[in-house]
Amino acid sequence: MAEAGSVIGAISVGTISEDRSLSDRSKTRGLCLMYAQSMPVRVGIMCEKCERIYLLVHPDNAQRIQFDPASDPHPYRLKCACRAERRFDKAQALPYTVSERSCDNGYADRDEYYTVPNRKSK
Ligand SMILES: [Zn+2]
Repeated sequence: MAEAGSVIGAISVGTISEDRSLSDRSKTRGLCLMYAQSMPVRVGIMCEKCERIYLLVHPDNAQRIQFDPASDPHPYRLKCACRAERRFDKAQALPYTVSERSCDNGYADRDEYYTVPNRKSK
């Protein structure tokens, strides 16, 4: 009895571990595919004149996006390459879907980004 039980136990343990490693492999493959197809989402502020967006988190944009606490309620100021200026607060900075290249550049032109749908908007 005890012998038969141990044999069955060994078989079932072996089967389970094999199944697990298989499903782990296919899961990893699926994730890689998903990342390759999806574009990164970055928070940016749009120039109202030329509709170029500037990503908030980019070293080059420290020159373009300035914070001035005295000009409340729009303490941020964007100086666009088209020479337009826009005053804004953080609520006006929105998430955009951009390409990897736009992430590197720190900005994206009108045909290079997609607005991320905001379901919370009234
Ligand atoms: Zn502009």
